[in-house]
Amino acid sequence: MFLKKTDPKIFNLLKKEEERQKTTLNMIPSENYSSQAVREALGSVLTDKYAEGYPQKRYYAGLKYYDEIENLCRERAKKLFKVPYVNVQPYSGSSANQAVYFALLRPYEKIMGMGLPYGGHLTHGWKVNFSGKIFNSIQYKVDEKTKLIDYKEVEKLALKEKPRLIFVGATAYPRIFDWEKFSYIAKKINAYLVADISHIAGLVVSNVHPSPVPFVDIITTTTHKTLRGPRGAMIMVTEKGIKKDKDLPQKIDKSVFPGLQGGPHMNNIAAIAVCLKEALNPSFKSYAKQIVKNCKILASELKKYNFNLLTGGTDNHLILIDLRNKNISGKDAQNLLEEAGIIVNKNEIPYDPNPPFNPSGIRLGTPALTTRKMKEKEMKKIAFWVNEVISNKKSVKKIRKEIKNFCKKFPLP
Ligand SMILES: *Cc1c(COP(=O)(O)O)cnc(C)c1O
Repeated sequence: MFLKKTDPKIFNLLKKEEERQKTTLNMIPSENYSSQAVREALGSVLTDKYAEGYPQKRYYAGLKYYDEIENLCRERAKKLFKVPYVNVQPYSGSSANQAVYFALLRPYEKIMGMGLPYGGHLTHGWKVNFSGKIFNSIQYKVDEKTKLIDYKEVEKLALKEKPRLIFVGATAYPRIFDWEKFSYIAKKINAYLVADISHIAGLVVSNVHPSPVPFVDIITTTTHKTLRGPRGAMIMVTEKGIKKDKDLPQKIDKSVFPGLQGGPHMNNIAAIAVCLKEALNPSFKSYAKQIVKNCKILASELKKYNFNLLTGGTDNHLILIDLRNKNISGKDAQNLLEEAGIIVNKNEIPYDPNPPFNPSGIRLGTPALTTRKMKEKEMKKIAFWVNEVISNKKSVKKIRKEIKNFCKKFPLP
């Protein structure tokens, strides 16, 4: 109500976006819908205060309740992920990863991560990112044929290059990570092992993806993907990490503040606490299970329509499609699907012969649809629509109408 009066332009754009979200199918695997409770904490008076430092060690007065909020958030994260230590202050996933690098390494030391074109994240050492510029970055790929991580190849590369730190995690990998194999490799060269579970955190805490906790030293995650909270991130240190270096928690804390950040976004930390409470609820487990069930059904339906799924399917919340047999580029498919009300993103496929701004693939997933309570039956319908749109451009208008109607049955949280 206040917004409408103060700033009608922003108010109107917000209303339009609300309508867009309501009437389209969001299949971007890194996105989700946060709950109203999460958004209430986010849009609260907690946004107004500085809280530099950590609970009981702050630089400003008036922070009694903020200490309680941050402590609650930390305790819930520890309980949910089963780790002894967590920092909940990073502004987002990229800053969390940055803090890990600066806590453990000096510039130009050697790091290793999965290359961006093979599913890795920018911050895992890609050349245009700080991680590839400030550090000496070695990148592993997936196998050209299977599109799976070839653990033998990763081991060979690691033994040859001896990186000080290995990042494991992805933004576009539809299979389960074998944390144990990575831990075996890291141990051989005495490297720090970091799991970045940004995409799969919600699956990990619900036991639908194996947890890295027993195998890695540090875990980073965003809070806004399958975990379904506000935009933000956390850094966790495991028992294993503390055993290796008892000062690891202090190093992480110092690296986040004062190393990289000033005041933490306390409204965000409160909202993260709320999302963690939601994730501790048994109903969260059924949501996470349903994400994977939905994704597997969607994959098998798309295969029936002769879509070429990388690795042949999925174990998690996302699917990568190589569209070359459909004679459409990833960009054109993205645009056409958007016209019909299906929101996906164009994506490079491993060893893509086409350039990154017009890649051969698309990436799509089920977290947001699952939050809207869609199930197997709906996935079949959506696979049908995706195929119709891709194979017959003239169907777009008709399908747009059908999807608008369909969406009415699945309200946003
Ligand atoms: C999303 C993501 C990030 C970065 O998160 P931002 O909040 O966008 O900075 C880092 N790593 C992985 C694996 C991700 O999926």
